[in-house]
Amino acid sequence: MQVAKKCAVAIDYKLTIDGGIVVDASEKGEPLWYLHGAGNIIPGLERALEGLSPGDKKTVTVSPEDGYGTYDKAKVHDVPRAQFPAGDYKVGDHIIATAPDGTEVPARISATNTKAITLDFNHELAGKTLTFDVNVSEVREATKDELKHGHVHGPGGHHH
Ligand SMILES: [Zn+2]
Repeated sequence: MQVAKKCAVAIDYKLTIDGGIVVDASEKGEPLWYLHGAGNIIPGLERALEGLSPGDKKTVTVSPEDGYGTYDKAKVHDVPRAQFPAGDYKVGDHIIATAPDGTEVPARISATNTKAITLDFNHELAGKTLTFDVNVSEVREATKDELKHGHVHGPGGHHH
């Protein structure tokens, strides 16, 4: 069976950036299951897997636009230290910021000085070209429930 819309697909994958830095990978024997055509995985990768069969291997290069977006300087904010609870804040730390409307947004500290802490709200992979080494391990028809829910059920998928 080939990868097409309404299929449940299992892939082994390795994601690298910047010429070989591994940022994510599936565990051996535990492929990632996703529902093809449902937007479960990033668009550039989903498109590239269309038509592949179990056993097929492919290296897929995904541009930032089809991946986690371009890097947006407007998403970087200097926040006065007075707005933070007392503590030690280091570059590279991840924090959860609370927006004025109360929603929680993940951010990364990208700089600090005595007066302010710079928060970067870009996705960590924003602006990165992504390289996926993918191996299609299984393809099957999705069940009615899976189609209704928009995700794969069972081992490797969603549990209710
Ligand atoms: Zn479900």
